[in-house]
Amino acid sequence: MGQVYVFNTQDCKTNAFSLYVYAFILCLIPYLELGFAILVFFIFCLCFPCLVRLASYLDDESGTPQDVISKLPCRTFTVSKEVNSIEAPLCSICLAEYEQDQQLRILPCKHEFHTTCIDPWLGNKPSCPLCRASVLNQERGV
Ligand SMILES: [Zn+2]
Ligand SMILES: [Zn+2]
Repeated sequence: MGQVYVFNTQDCKTNAFSLYVYAFILCLIPYLELGFAILVFFIFCLCFPCLVRLASYLDDESGTPQDVISKLPCRTFTVSKEVNSIEAPLCSICLAEYEQDQQLRILPCKHEFHTTCIDPWLGNKPSCPLCRASVLNQERGV
């Protein structure tokens, strides 16, 4: 309606100039909103790769710090101790049975894994692959 008023009432412009300005601003608002939406869309498109990079950077940061990993207790697997168990204990990451003299790392939740399997995992995620118990919270609690 504002646009019709602005474009069809040339002769009234001088008589009702303030009304003309008001109508002009009214019909300008949708264009401004459209321009703003397009601007936001372009900013989003430009920033999206940056956001993805930032997210992956934050993901890397959420791994377990190396000093926390090295503080977790280790033990050497010996066959004689585990003989009484019906099934030979498995490493849940590589699904291989533990063998004599292999280094195991014991997480705060008492789950055990090969040191060579769990260390890279903890580098990415600070939690047990089996029960999701956080390694970091347990460390802080001690
Ligand atoms: Zn393993
Ligand atoms: Zn666990």
